[in-house]
Amino acid sequence: MASVRQNTTIREYQDFVKEVYGLSNDRYFSLWDMVTNMERFMMRGLKGIRKEDTEKTKINLLIAFSWFVSMTNRLHVNLEEEVWNRFPYLCSYCASCPCLCKKNKIEHRKEIPIDNIKRPKLLEEFQNMFNQIYPTEQRTLEHAGVHLAEEAGEFSEAILTYRGGHEDKDFRKVELEIADFFSCIMGVFNSLGVNVAKELSIMFFDNCHVCKNAPCTCNFRDITSFKS
Ligand SMILES: [Zn+2]
Ligand SMILES: [Zn+2]
Repeated sequence: MASVRQNTTIREYQDFVKEVYGLSNDRYFSLWDMVTNMERFMMRGLKGIRKEDTEKTKINLLIAFSWFVSMTNRLHVNLEEEVWNRFPYLCSYCASCPCLCKKNKIEHRKEIPIDNIKRPKLLEEFQNMFNQIYPTEQRTLEHAGVHLAEEAGEFSEAILTYRGGHEDKDFRKVELEIADFFSCIMGVFNSLGVNVAKELSIMFFDNCHVCKNAPCTCNFRDITSFKS
C-alpha cells in the first residue's frame, strides 16, 4: 500500500506519485497531455475562487498539484532541490523575507544567498516558509489565483520552447518555472488556509484516491472525464 503521511517530504510525495501514477501516465499521456490535465484542474480551482467555493478550489488544486508533480517526474526534476535553490527562505527576486518587491519597487533580480541551515525538511515546512516569504495579508485570494494562472502559462511556455530546440539552457528555464509554479500554488493554499500535506494525507491515505490501487488502474476514459 502506498500512502502519503502528513509529515511527508516533497521528495517522498514525488515518489508516491511516481509509484501510483507513473505507469498510467507513461502509457496514456504525453507531456502535453499532462500539461492540459494540470491546467484543466487548475482552471476548476480558479473557478472555485470566483464562485467563493473553497472546497471546490481545494480539491481541484490538490489534483492540479498532483498532475504538476507527475510532470516533474516525467522530466526527472528534483522538485525539492529546485524549490530550495530558487527560494532559500527568501523571495527569488528581492532576496528578502518577507518579500519587499512591492514596497521597495525592486526592478532587478538580486543575487540570492543560500543558507542551508534554514532549509525546511517537510512539505508542510516548505508551505510555511512560503507563508513567511509571501504573507497572505499582502494579497487577496483572487490576486494569488491570478498569479498562479500566470505562472502556469510561463511553465507551459518554457516547455514549448524546450520542446522546440531541446537546448539545455531552455531546460534550465523549465526547472526555474517549476519552482515558481510551486511557490504560487503554495501561495494560493496559504490564502485558502489549506494545509497541503494534511489534505494530501487524507486524499492519498491508500493508493490512488479514485481506484484505490497502486499502480493506479483507472482507465483512460475515467481519468479524462474525472470531475470534482
Ligand atoms: Zn520580493
Ligand atoms: Zn486510479
